[in-house]
Amino acid sequence: RGKLLDVSGLKVSFYTYRGVIKALDGVELWMDSGERLGVVGETGCGKSVTSLAVMRLIEQPGEIQAGKVIFNGKSLLELSEEEMNGVRGIEMSMIFQEPRSSLNPVMKVGYQIGEAIAKSKKMPIKKTYPEVREILKLVGLDPERVMNSYPHELSGGMSQRVMIGMGLATHPKLLIADEPTSALDVTIQAQILELLDELARKMGNAVMLITHDMGVVAEFCDKVMVMYAGNSVEYASTFELFERPLHPYTGGLLLAVPRVGRTDELKAIKGTVPDLVDPPSGCRFHPRCPRVMEICKENRPPLLQVEPGHFVACYLYGNKGEVKENA
Ligand code: SF4
Ligand code: MG
Repeated sequence: RGKLLDVSGLKVSFYTYRGVIKALDGVELWMDSGERLGVVGETGCGKSVTSLAVMRLIEQPGEIQAGKVIFNGKSLLELSEEEMNGVRGIEMSMIFQEPRSSLNPVMKVGYQIGEAIAKSKKMPIKKTYPEVREILKLVGLDPERVMNSYPHELSGGMSQRVMIGMGLATHPKLLIADEPTSALDVTIQAQILELLDELARKMGNAVMLITHDMGVVAEFCDKVMVMYAGNSVEYASTFELFERPLHPYTGGLLLAVPRVGRTDELKAIKGTVPDLVDPPSGCRFHPRCPRVMEICKENRPPLLQVEPGHFVACYLYGNKGEVKENA
């Protein structure tokens, strides 16, 4: 599967007063070097949790319970926290929906970018400033002005440019971008996507783009993983997925294709995302599926390749296997 990233059987639960939320229940995901993977699905399907688990940033009351994350030849869930610190923010970095909330409000922007570089190159922050200026130029900002600004002095779009610069400053092999444009104005969204596109091309890094916006996926991604209620349900090239969606949920998502820039969630699929404290039996999509069969209520379909490069977890495609719980 993926030569850069291979996630298999990933399970994450959150222990809350309402009960155990089974947020991820056997997520599968893979990427090659330099590739752009879109991870799509409705709010609450586990897209963000997946990316946080890959970065090993799941916090209490959450817990990674099972699975493997192989990144660049390393088994991340088996690394010590110290070893993981040498990966996170260096070989693999992440940008979020709210850029300002990831910046320290009381430190100047130049210092914060410098800190990221200093950490990876083990050099004093002051010595990184020439490089910080280069990075700011690269993301289309005026270095002199932005170096000495505090985050609140920047617009949302400028802050996201800073975050992208910080994320790419260490030349990571993978940049994870979690809804990087959803909090921005429509015109700014397009500019930020263009910037991500241009820089990823220039620097050759892979991008995992987490989004609920199929329009963004169509423009930006090579491959797509569709998630539903903590499961990976369909994977294909973007072209193939849009041409021939196999999973009934993907079909519904595509009917709901929003224009680029729309920030509300998909509404075309009847029913609501299930409660993951007590998820539906078998295929978690079965209560909403227009093509549900008996077997779907009993067993959970595994994600299997049904055509070259096209994977789906659905009994419509002839496989009668099941995912063994706790396997
Ligand atoms: Fe629908 Fe069954 Fe396929 Fe699930 S496995 S998507 S319920 S047909
Ligand atoms: Mg999210």
